[in-house]
Amino acid sequence: MKRVDERDIMFARMGLQPGGVEYLDYYKRHPKREAIDGELRDMPHLCAQNTPTYDPMLVPAVEANFELLAHLRQFCNGEVNAIKTQVDTQEISSLIKNMTAHYGAVDVGIARTDEEFYYSHRGRHTQNYGDAVDTSSKYAIVFAVEMSVDAVNTAPAMSACLETSKAYVDAAVIGLQIAQFIRGLGYDARCHMDGNYLMPAIPIAVEAGLGERGRNSLLISRANGCFVRLGIVTTELALQTDAKANLNIERFCRLCALCVKTCPARTISESGDSATWRIEQEKCYKTWRSLGTDCGICISACPIGQEIDAENIKDMTEEQIIAFVDGYKAKFGSRKRNRNKGFV
Ligand code: SF4
Ligand code: SF4
Repeated sequence: MKRVDERDIMFARMGLQPGGVEYLDYYKRHPKREAIDGELRDMPHLCAQNTPTYDPMLVPAVEANFELLAHLRQFCNGEVNAIKTQVDTQEISSLIKNMTAHYGAVDVGIARTDEEFYYSHRGRHTQNYGDAVDTSSKYAIVFAVEMSVDAVNTAPAMSACLETSKAYVDAAVIGLQIAQFIRGLGYDARCHMDGNYLMPAIPIAVEAGLGERGRNSLLISRANGCFVRLGIVTTELALQTDAKANLNIERFCRLCALCVKTCPARTISESGDSATWRIEQEKCYKTWRSLGTDCGICISACPIGQEIDAENIKDMTEEQIIAFVDGYKAKFGSRKRNRNKGFV
């Protein structure tokens, strides 16, 4: 697996200041991206008043959540207790998983974090832009927090964006609690939260057994389909790892393709070849900036987690999947949309 450079993700690119050192360095290395990134930078911002989804009540609520997250980032790392508590690997792994679930996660797993899972370089914040990522922690506790299906199904309205931001806060709080707990035991631990991940969340969630990647490039979690956000705590504490999930999502996605037709950017692959299932981040992000929210239509379009459980898919025959998808379309059309755009 090739390591991802965080400087390549859209949020990092949108943060570059034209004419600045980082800007000049980035587009010298990626000249083909300069024109499209300039076009995107000139579009209205997410939550801006001149976007079609602007809501004078919900935008401040979304912004409140992201501001809180910005304040919380300083607690991702912390002092490690000089007194190390000796622990049994199996016992501590099970305690951490139970605690994470008790604090509000709908699912939790543990994975080895070899170097390939980490970003190669940081890209979101000027104070560490371009720094090589520290890959020394070898274990990750990966967990999912639930998003309300009713709220997500209002997508692309601001109420869906509010649900996303709320789930990021939920994940951050749980991650901070767990990281602080592990540091208290005398082992280094770091919480990864919105705007401060040191690794892309989906590959490590797959590795930890939380689910499989779907055609829409999102994690289809065994707990709640795409209706989740992910949190991660990495640590030097040796833990017992989990097996990958075995959900057979790829076969279901090949026969479903509901998200393909609903994506306004037309960037979800129609092909039956899962090797081509990648979204073009520029096209997706352009839709976000046109709408003023994080879109979310491809989450809402997915029947897994709302009309069928991920755990039930593996044993379905192809005929049963086709019948299910046909029935779903007959009942809900292209997606099960919630037209209530207020607070859900
Ligand atoms: S977020 Fe919207 S634009 Fe992006 S892939 Fe999903 S449906 Fe398409
Ligand atoms: S909508 Fe269908 S094809 Fe798209 S991710 Fe969900 S299950 Fe897969």
